[in-house]
Amino acid sequence: MAQTSAQRQADSLWQTVTTRLRATLGPVEHATWIEPLTLVGVEQGTASVAAPNRFFRDWVSERYLKRLQEAFSTELGQATAVKLTLSKANTSANAQTEHGPQPSANPAPSVQHWQPRLNPRYTFAEFVVGSSNQFAHAAALAVANQPGEKYNPLFIYGGVGLGKTHLVTALGHQLLADAGRPRKVLFMPAEFFMNELISSLRRDRMTEFKEKFRRADALILDDVQFLAGRERTQEEFFHTFNSLHADRHQIVLTSDKVPRDIPDLEERLRNRFESGLIADVGAPDLETRVAIVQKKALAEGLEIPDDAILYIAQNVSSNVRELEGCLTRLAAFASVNHAPITLAFARQALHDLVRRQHTKPDVEQVQRAVAEFFHIRLSDLKSKRRTQHIAFCRQVAMYLCRKLTESSFPLIGAHFARDHSTVIHACNLIERRAANDPAFRQSIDKIERRLTSASQANP
Ligand code: ADP
Ligand code: MG
Repeated sequence: MAQTSAQRQADSLWQTVTTRLRATLGPVEHATWIEPLTLVGVEQGTASVAAPNRFFRDWVSERYLKRLQEAFSTELGQATAVKLTLSKANTSANAQTEHGPQPSANPAPSVQHWQPRLNPRYTFAEFVVGSSNQFAHAAALAVANQPGEKYNPLFIYGGVGLGKTHLVTALGHQLLADAGRPRKVLFMPAEFFMNELISSLRRDRMTEFKEKFRRADALILDDVQFLAGRERTQEEFFHTFNSLHADRHQIVLTSDKVPRDIPDLEERLRNRFESGLIADVGAPDLETRVAIVQKKALAEGLEIPDDAILYIAQNVSSNVRELEGCLTRLAAFASVNHAPITLAFARQALHDLVRRQHTKPDVEQVQRAVAEFFHIRLSDLKSKRRTQHIAFCRQVAMYLCRKLTESSFPLIGAHFARDHSTVIHACNLIERRAANDPAFRQSIDKIERRLTSASQANP
């Protein structure tokens, strides 16, 4: 089933809007409340957004409606209302299972056979290979050609929006297409694995659950960092993993961190994750970014001159999703204004997006801003002093370093003379607190704003 171009546009518009929201809401709130929503479409100044259930819809409507409207309005360049609806898949009253994988017309309490819903756009053909992702790409291809044989598991890690999901989806497509016999491929975010597990436990359907997962020819689990701290799910996954592995069935995992940096991951599971092939995807270099923009423009039927493409590729460097967001915005602007896309036009349309890109502070700037904000000395922040207040400020600084500089845990630790586990601990702690304490969240936001506007002033 081919996706229509309108659908594709809606998908990428939604991606840019949610990326925007993530920046203000932070990762936890974003993952909890925004990610499960879907954009149905935009018509006559109103965006219809579907929530997985009533509880969700009411919650989002109460707390996030205004922000959603703002984000859409900014993105589309005109005032846009947001209407919250319930998604069609919504059948049961249980929030745990509802945004599970299978929109089911039949709420029979059995674990259903998994039909992988692979994004049709995420194929190897659509993936641009460059120095930052060459290795991961090659690894994915190798596994697609000889599943279960050499690299098992394949573990792909890297930052947000750098193509992990795209790559492993492409792998899934290939496994399904190439088989001399029909293959059973399971593809899902780790979160869905957990949801299915919970619902199977509750319904006393563990036999089916085990059967389903252990019989798969290949299991692709996206974003396994989600398993952090979920003990029961980790335990079950450990057994699933072993059973698949013993039968030489392929396991593919993605994560935003290497296994050793995933907090609260059982040792034995970490060992399993590390036992196969680990490949990283990094931020694409300029040539790759140019090639990506060219490819996407072609796919969207957009005519963009080379200088405008170069401008975009030079100025948007953090991740591929942002690059796509730029194109979506350009396309929207061009069609609203009935104007061709030129360099000048691109500059004008992308002005604020591009400025945002320049505002990535470094670790030292973060340390200074945090010390200033809490009125403590920078040297204390970096020292071994353990008074409660200083330790707390230090945790905030570590969290912000992670969030704003995208440095690795060990690197951040080095700036505080601490090891990476201390940084991970600090990040989790602050993230939780920020999620539960709005006043604290505001303070954090304030420091963040200072930092992003400061590094903008002196790039
Ligand atoms: P991740 O899972 O790492 O967060 P995704 O796989 O979702 O990232 O990629 C984000 C977007 O960028 C997707 O739309 C994807 O198609 C696109 N993308 C990422 N890397 C590439 C690439 N090398 N070539 C083409 N498109 C890419
Ligand atoms: Mg992903």
